[in-house]
Amino acid sequence: MSRLRSTINLAPVAYHLARIRRRERLGHAEQLRLQSLLLRGLVRHAYDNVPHYRRVLTPALVGGLRTAHDLAGFPVLDRVDLHNASAGGELLASGFTAGNTRAATTSGSSGIPITIRNSERDLGYLRATYLQDILTSGLRPTDRIAYFRVNPFLRHPLERLGVLRNFHIPTGRPLDEQVAAFLSARPTFLVGFPNVISSIVEELQRRGIRYQGVRTVLFGGERLTPTARAHLLAYFGAAHREVYASVEVFTIARTCPEGTMHLRSADLVVEVEHADGTVSVEDGEGDILVTRLHSEAMPLIRYRLGDRVRISPNDCPCGVARTPILREVVGRDQDRISGADGRRYYGDFITYAVQDFPEVNRMQLIQRRPGAIEVLVVLTEGARLGVPADIERAVRRKAPGLDVAVRQVREITPEANGKIKIVKVLAPSGAPSADTPSTEKGHVADV
Ligand SMILES: [Zn+2]
Repeated sequence: MSRLRSTINLAPVAYHLARIRRRERLGHAEQLRLQSLLLRGLVRHAYDNVPHYRRVLTPALVGGLRTAHDLAGFPVLDRVDLHNASAGGELLASGFTAGNTRAATTSGSSGIPITIRNSERDLGYLRATYLQDILTSGLRPTDRIAYFRVNPFLRHPLERLGVLRNFHIPTGRPLDEQVAAFLSARPTFLVGFPNVISSIVEELQRRGIRYQGVRTVLFGGERLTPTARAHLLAYFGAAHREVYASVEVFTIARTCPEGTMHLRSADLVVEVEHADGTVSVEDGEGDILVTRLHSEAMPLIRYRLGDRVRISPNDCPCGVARTPILREVVGRDQDRISGADGRRYYGDFITYAVQDFPEVNRMQLIQRRPGAIEVLVVLTEGARLGVPADIERAVRRKAPGLDVAVRQVREITPEANGKIKIVKVLAPSGAPSADTPSTEKGHVADV
């Protein structure tokens, strides 16, 4: 078993990248054939080598698996299961240890902290996936890439040749430091959470700096209001692409040149669990369950990511990607707010009502107690005085049972990782409630 390296080894990345690119060009049926093959291998590996799966699976389940549709009989891996099993090493395949894997942690500040362990081969695959994300998003070899993220990353040898130069914008640091890092990087290609990039744009504008060098912005991680997104892209004069990804399962879907999010069927099984408990593969609306097909150190089978999604068959005219389409991430588990009657529901119908106002640059919906919400809004300059009252009326119409207060603020305080939660549910103590875990999205894994 290979030891971890302190620099990125490019040979496996190049190998994986070539395979990923070849597979993504295949038709959907061929990708599904490959998916079934990889899935059978993964499940067999998990059953043979991982204590947790040895315990929860049976020879009949493992032997009877042919395609992703057969996963419906398998147990789902919830975040709490993952937390408990990984703490005891129950999810590590035999031969893998803390010494020969690298840990990626997500959601430390609130909810249930998760640690994923990846082998050197898993990491080679992860890096190739991310490289493919930026390559298909129009990256050129001469681009200077700025990654907006908390932690720095390993250097790769191509940088010494002046190819694919990466720059780290430390999103956990004060804004002035982020701006300084951005300006000295002189990036042409940005990868990061929308609101973090947005903060830097606002600060550049405040200083009267025009920075026009950016060609493409690759968003991941969270929603940005349409107004803020348009503003950001207009400032740079840049094109934009988007990925739906997470620390646990890497990139799940990615935009094609038409701006449609296509699933990555040859790399992941995406199941949708509907409200009535039934499950479909790559179709319909409900909770997303993900199985990452390339993972040797810590296989996650039917992992409940905590997002609600809507998926439909491919009707995109792009001709580049031929897999089903992720129409939207409907709402996240942690986005659920409580009514005065104790019912819990997703806050998206409210946030969309707020975002429909073009004057809204940023927003945050905070729930401090069941039945009441506070909506913080940052408005565009010169917005009418009556806008907050109009928003309040619109929200009341959408949610007549809720006690609603809309407050105009100058800025919204990000979380420790630099992200802004659009929906933030706080327990009565003022601390984020423990049963509302958050999943970090985007290119934030410690690779
Ligand atoms: Zn397309």
